[in-house]
Formats: sequence, C-alpha cells, structure tokens
Amino acid sequence: MNHLLQVENMKVEFRTAKGPLTAVRSISFHVDKGETLCIVGESGCGKSITSLSIMGLLPQNGNIVEGSIKLENDKLVGLTDEQLQSYRGNKISMIFQEPMTALNPVFTIGYQLQEPLLIHKKISKKEAKQASIELLRKVGIPNPEEKINQYPHQLSGGMRQRVMIAMALACEPLLLIADEPTTALDVTIQAQILDLIEELKEQMGMGVIFVTHDMGVVAEIADRVMVMYAGEVVEMSDAQTIFANPKHPYTQGLLAAVPDVEADAHELNVIPGSMPNLDEKIEGCRFHPRCPFATDICRQKNPPTFKISENQEVKCWLQEAKMHIESAATS
Ligand code: SF4
Ligand code: MG
Repeated sequence: MNHLLQVENMKVEFRTAKGPLTAVRSISFHVDKGETLCIVGESGCGKSITSLSIMGLLPQNGNIVEGSIKLENDKLVGLTDEQLQSYRGNKISMIFQEPMTALNPVFTIGYQLQEPLLIHKKISKKEAKQASIELLRKVGIPNPEEKINQYPHQLSGGMRQRVMIAMALACEPLLLIADEPTTALDVTIQAQILDLIEELKEQMGMGVIFVTHDMGVVAEIADRVMVMYAGEVVEMSDAQTIFANPKHPYTQGLLAAVPDVEADAHELNVIPGSMPNLDEKIEGCRFHPRCPFATDICRQKNPPTFKISENQEVKCWLQEAKMHIESAATS
C-alpha cells in the first residue's frame, strides 16, 4: 500500500567539535491519510528531531545521513532548501509549542495568514484576505474581520495557538506535524485545541504527526503510537493495544508514570534513571541501564524489532524469548 508519508531507515547526525553525534538511529515508520500518529518519549529521545527532519528544518549542523523520506511519491531527502520551500507550509505544515516563535510580532495576523496563500496558491490579495478570515473562523476565533488587523501580542496564548493552526492549515496540507502544541496551554484550552486538530483532520483528511511526552494527550488523539527512546523506535502499535497491552519495558514505565488522580503524589511511578546523552556509548539495548528486566544479552546486543502481531512491533529481547516459548509450545 502507498502511504502518505514513508520514512525508512532514517539516521540523523549532528556535527560537533567532538565529532558526529547520532540523534536518530535508523528509524522507519509511516503515516496514512486521515490518521494521527503520536510520537512519544522523554525530552531528548529524538522525537522533535524526527519531525524537523521531515520538515527539512534541522539546525545547520544537523543532517540526514542515511535513509529516505517519501511524501506520496516525492522523495524529500536530498532536496535543496529552495525545493523544500515548495513543500513547507504547502503540502507539509508544522505547529510548534510556542506560537510566538512562529508568529512574527511586527506583522498583523491577517498579513501572516495571507502570506502562505499568496506564495503557494497564486490567488489575488482580495481572495487571500477573504480566505484568511475564513481560516480564522474555522479555528474558532471570534470576530475574524477585526482580528486580522491585530498583532500577535494583542491575543491570548490560546488564540495565538489557534492563529498558528490557521496558518498551518492555510494551504490545506497533506500532512500536519504538531510538536507539543498544547504543552504551554492550560488544561481547558489544551482540550479545545486537541478537539480542533481532530475535527480539522477529519474534515480535511490530512495525516497528522503529533509529538508529545504526555500519555494523557496520546490517549485522547492517537490512532497509532510510536514510542522513541534514545534515538530509536522501541515500540509501535495502534493506540488501543499500547494502552491495553504495552510490551516494551520503557512503554510500560511511561504508562505507569502517568499520574493517577486517585493516588497520592508519592505513589507517582517514575522510571528511575535518565536517558543517555547523545555522546554516551551504550553497548546492547540502549534502555538496559534503566530496565528492571535487563539480562546478559541486553547488555551485549541491541535487540532487533520483533513484529509480535499485525499491529504491534517491539524492540526488546523479552519478545524473542516469548516467541521461542510459543513456537516450542506449538511444535
Ligand atoms: Fe530491557 Fe533487555 Fe528489553 Fe532492553 S532488551 S528493554 S534491557 S529487557
Ligand atoms: Mg521537543
């Protein structure tokens, strides 16, 4: 089947004075039209670097050194910045955690909404103005005719976030990448923005990559979930399965760390230890220093990814042991 987005064996490195550092280690995944893939993991796991790689927005010293990214039939790795410009804001859009970094303080909301339309859609200024009013209405901003004349600082955080979503949707992208877009917002606004993204996804049939460290948010919006740890994908599954039957010890830890409203604060179950730095050498499974189930093989060899069902893939030696037991039982 042809996926909307197909990432294969992507490896991302950063050039530093100490030599190259690997931030993303040969990861593969896909996104289909009309589905939301959540990428989850602690900060520094490579989830933001993954989305920036797809956007062609890695920092100067970052590079995709291996692998491929395909949007429909177009290969995105190796394109010049100028070529990538025709995808960004057009076929692929991104919304960020802090809207003030994406909005320009010196231009009105209307100007910033019309800009991508004028660049990519080749419509008149009048049409662009009308379209930008419609966009603001679509994302639930009251009095859009007035709001287009305002500057970002005149709006509340939640309203700015809506404007950023309107900007990202201006050209009806095939793929929307949202990197922790609700983290800075209060709970009520967060819920509204998540609903809005869901609703627009359904209406427009776009694929969504939603990057978050918050399993509560994942439960809310994911169709499929990709769990990353230290630059690798450790588990990939449909959302239902990952909550009902998480298989990777790290996923289990992440889920256990979700605060239980009924429990006392001291019962909060946080995975002990911290993620390795990019320059730390780790033999074997990259999670082994923190894993309660680590054995000798875990300390020696990095596990392959085991496909344990149609919907679930897990990078952990425990799955191999289980597969041997199952095949012994049936033979
Ligand atoms: Fe833990 Fe070993 Fe599985 Fe790694 S491979 S997650 S160390 S059990
Ligand atoms: Mg991040």
